[in-house]
Amino acid sequence: MQDIQRIGVFTSGGDAPGMNACLRAIVRTALTNGLEVTGIRRGYEGMIEGDLVEMERRSVSNIVQLGGTILKSARSEAFMSEEGRQQAAEHLRENGVDALVAVGGDGTFRGASKLKEEHGFAVVGCPGTIDNDLYGTDQTIGYDTALNTAIENIDRIRDTADAHNRLFLVEVMGRDAGFIALNCGIGGGAELILIPETITEMDVVKERILSLMSAQRRSTIVVVAEGDDLGGAQGIERALRDDPEFSDIELRSAILGHTQRGGAPTAGDRVLASRLGVASVEALLDGHSDVMVGLVNEEVKLTPLPNVYGRRKSIDYDLLKLTQILS
Ligand code: ATP
Repeated sequence: MQDIQRIGVFTSGGDAPGMNACLRAIVRTALTNGLEVTGIRRGYEGMIEGDLVEMERRSVSNIVQLGGTILKSARSEAFMSEEGRQQAAEHLRENGVDALVAVGGDGTFRGASKLKEEHGFAVVGCPGTIDNDLYGTDQTIGYDTALNTAIENIDRIRDTADAHNRLFLVEVMGRDAGFIALNCGIGGGAELILIPETITEMDVVKERILSLMSAQRRSTIVVVAEGDDLGGAQGIERALRDDPEFSDIELRSAILGHTQRGGAPTAGDRVLASRLGVASVEALLDGHSDVMVGLVNEEVKLTPLPNVYGRRKSIDYDLLKLTQILS
């Protein structure tokens, strides 16, 4: 087993609330165990440019409550090439880094696996993404906060929709996964939820909306995942506006967008991030590499990175059935 003296830590891909709590846990667990820590700014982009910073206990003081990431995040085209990764590896070696903790999503883990494969670094991943789309953990860091932000916004939209008997199409994030949409739809009492995991047919959507609007004569909220097959809220709005049957219906779209990424992490995300941050360093110290730390049924579980990015995490189809009963 490789003797680890210094770890490098970075956040990469889309930022997620709770990444700072995770960094705090990683840095403090490493220092407590006698390791040195290098912070890598701006993910793989900073790794390639040698944008490195020494991390002390106080470098992560007073950040557990902050959204975003103090190390910044980035997407890096240059890291997709062998030359880019070679450059990144040279900077890490010059700095004495033996092992890495990567906080990010599946793209970040693909990159981390390559650093292990091509340059021999021990790597452990922490699941940091609001999308909750990673196999190997019940929840990802940032998902709970994003979900609660989406619900809070739906509650606000409900007030105005109700006041005017309007139909609102509310688009939420999640890339090609429907976790946020499904759960904020249930929590926000949406009448209809459209997610990428199921085939959405425009005729069926129209019929359902018409029957909801005529039966209840009050607000109707349709939650649409950004990755849904009908082109998100705007795609559906265009189709409805072109249909004379909808000419009397007051219709609005709201895209919640990046509001879902920001803000202070919820208690759940702070605790999850802290647990997984600690577990990631412990995994490295125990000799593990090319794995992601996750929480499954309240227990820390290690999943090989290739399984994380090679498999698709399934939504709970029972929840989908629930919406049909409740709406
Ligand atoms: P999120 O789920 O929040 O979008 P992510 O980690 O999946 O997070 P990506 O943009 O997909 O975000 O990946 C982050 C970075 O990881 C990319 O910008 C790229 O530098 C690196 N990366 C992604 N895929 C690969 C790959 N196949 N090989 C090498 N590096 C990769």
